[in-house]
Amino acid sequence: MSSEKELDELREQVADKTREIIDSIAARNALAKKIGAVKSRESLPVEDGRVEDSLVRLVIQECEDKGVDVQTGLKVLSAVLAEGKRVQGFQTKQSLITPQMMSTKAREIEATGKKLLRLDVGEPDFHPPRAVLDATSEALYDFKTHYTGTRGIPELVTAVRRYLERRYHYSAKESELMSMPGGRFGVYMALATTVKEGEGIVVIEPNWPAYKEVLQFIGGRASTVHTTLEEGWEPSVEAVHDAIRPNTRAILLSYPANPTGKVISPAKFKSIVDLANDHRLTVISDEIYNDYAYTECPSILGSGAQKFILTSSFSKTWAMTGFRVGYIVSSEENIAKMMKIQSLAITSVPEFIQYGAVKALDSDAEVAQNSRAMKERIEAAGRELDAIGALQYVRPDGAMYVFPQAKSADFDSNAFTMKLLEQKGVTVSPGSGFGDYPRCFRISLGGSMETIVDGIRKIGELLG
Ligand code: PMP
Repeated sequence: MSSEKELDELREQVADKTREIIDSIAARNALAKKIGAVKSRESLPVEDGRVEDSLVRLVIQECEDKGVDVQTGLKVLSAVLAEGKRVQGFQTKQSLITPQMMSTKAREIEATGKKLLRLDVGEPDFHPPRAVLDATSEALYDFKTHYTGTRGIPELVTAVRRYLERRYHYSAKESELMSMPGGRFGVYMALATTVKEGEGIVVIEPNWPAYKEVLQFIGGRASTVHTTLEEGWEPSVEAVHDAIRPNTRAILLSYPANPTGKVISPAKFKSIVDLANDHRLTVISDEIYNDYAYTECPSILGSGAQKFILTSSFSKTWAMTGFRVGYIVSSEENIAKMMKIQSLAITSVPEFIQYGAVKALDSDAEVAQNSRAMKERIEAAGRELDAIGALQYVRPDGAMYVFPQAKSADFDSNAFTMKLLEQKGVTVSPGSGFGDYPRCFRISLGGSMETIVDGIRKIGELLG
């Protein structure tokens, strides 16, 4: 047989196999539909974590037996699971109002001239240090207005290395860090390089909504550890262990936490790190609020984590949210992967911004001042909340939020949030944005003391 004829025949067989895959998906869809009908008849939930877990195990085993790349198998599983849900008419449950949606709405109302008491804003109202403003504007007028290397200007890389040594006694090589435009992009790159479609991470809720949103965007799965106010927002190591699935690649930690202000003890942090090491998982540690901590706050640096990605930002500590700059510490290999994304997407952080960031790392007096001011706000918020009988809360260990919970079991925080905005002109973020917390809402302490006190008093008035 001529090679050309042989190739034609082989290609035909490949086309047949491809058709068989689609036929199998169609047959699988038909079964999924039948399952959907039974579940709806019996009022059972559409998603069943245990069934998905056993399919994940099956796919891993089959791929290993048959020499197929496991990641490819998981990707296919993720696609057919999504397809099955589609034919069942399942729509992913979206949280009704996220903090970002709330702030867009509040800005629209403010644009009409109406004054609001903003307790939804996730940024401090402090000013950036004077030295940062001077260095940024000097750099601008000195025409530091160009692209830079993707990692960042050498001055910033050196300043971050010195800062890590001083603050955490941690020495990082230049190849183990990079600058990026803010913590949000850091979280995106950390997840995008750690988790592939069909893989997942363990997250502890309540947490910053972006984690799950990014994960969903990249086709990953969140395995959730639900913590409660009654247990002081404390995750148990067993619960974290139980949330690890065969396709889990990372555990995401963020302390002090948004929205609860919770800090876990260094011993518990270490146990979770040990668990990650035992399962060869990466710990992604979002340490953006580390300078607003009023109890000993563990860092992933020096924790003994074998695989980790630390993301941090200049946004909160130095009140530089609009500068869009932060830094990441990880292995040389991970940093190289993240630099690839950054170079594809944005080239670098703007040059003059990086000169400003260098100066922030020396502004210890301002950090101390901001941290003290936030502590006073947390204490004042506590005093005001203590006077509201309908609410309970856990006093935050840090960050810049309180996450109260209504004592009433049928409280609907989405409805309450809208009523609070309409009747009292106060904005907060409903608990459903942070996980399954319909009785909670987040109060941000980013605004002035007056805003915080007046706003919480109005919450008390509405709750009666
Ligand atoms: N992580 C957490 C926990 C946050 O709350 C925020 C901001 N709300 C960020 C990261 C991102 O901040 P930025 O992009 O401004 O650095």
